[in-house]
Amino acid sequence: MSATVLDGKKIGRVIEEELFHRITNLQSKEIAPHLAVVIVGDDPASHVYVRNKEMACERCGIKSTRIDLDGNISEEEILATVNMLNSDNSVHGILVQSPLPKGINESMVTDAILPEKDVDGFHKMNLGRLVQGDSSGLLPCTPAGIMKILESSDIELSGKNALVIGRSRIVGMPMSILLAQRGIDATVTIAHSRTKNLSEICRKADLVVAAIGKPEFVKSEWIKSGAIVIDVGINRVEDSSRKSGYRLVGDVDSDVSKVAGYITPVPGGVGPMTIAMLMSNTIMATESQSM
Ligand code: NAD
Repeated sequence: MSATVLDGKKIGRVIEEELFHRITNLQSKEIAPHLAVVIVGDDPASHVYVRNKEMACERCGIKSTRIDLDGNISEEEILATVNMLNSDNSVHGILVQSPLPKGINESMVTDAILPEKDVDGFHKMNLGRLVQGDSSGLLPCTPAGIMKILESSDIELSGKNALVIGRSRIVGMPMSILLAQRGIDATVTIAHSRTKNLSEICRKADLVVAAIGKPEFVKSEWIKSGAIVIDVGINRVEDSSRKSGYRLVGDVDSDVSKVAGYITPVPGGVGPMTIAMLMSNTIMATESQSM
């Protein structure tokens, strides 16, 4: 039997449509929700992600401004751009696309964004709220999107064993906190590059969230029959049969769908949910700045 596919594209579009009345309400007060996206350098994947975010803004009726900065730019110049956007009252959300070139301190750039404009949810004040059990603010988009997939698919997690593979500031760590929060009540294990016996730990999990960044790393033998598998990974692997020369694969092997109960596809799973939550955060930020 093959797993039920959790269609992030479909769920993401529903979330975007649900924003419609909030956007028209803002527009009726002559407030135009506005997202500024800063991209530094010419990383091809980042350019695709930023274009997808711009297209989502167009779909939703959110104004977007893209600021392209040279890959050799200094940290001071990036911070000056962020400060300029912070003081522009017509801008409600600011996002600096990751990864930044080597030598730039990403945390410092993130923390320079005003917390109320931090639509990526990476500012230490927004992450700090989450740690304190308050998930009503601007949450990191990828983990928040995963929670929405689980919620809209009526997947009950109370008392379930959840394994999050990866402990990054933007995905793994906030994901673990959201799963363990009161009301969701999963029993959470966080695995990382130093974890021993990962396959054994994985076999005990009712939910596996893979956020590693290694193509097809999680194997079907590691997965408990019927488990829920969320594949966060977006990896480019060479494929000469494609015009682009590559294809996208997740962190989870394709055979996992033969064992799991539910699975998110790559592409079309977590990615579109991340973008939908960015739209949602931009509207939340606009509303809170317009009160
Ligand atoms: P990261 O490199 O910051 O973190 C990777 C994590 O994986 C680390 O915590 C590390 O300890 C862990 N890890 C590495 N090797 C491991 C191993 N052998 N065993 C167990 N754990 C191991 O990456 P990230 O930013 O968290 O992103 C992870 C993946 O998710 C990437 O493929 C990225 O492109 C993708 N991503 C997708 C979306 C989306 O919207 N779908 C959003 C963000 C990131």
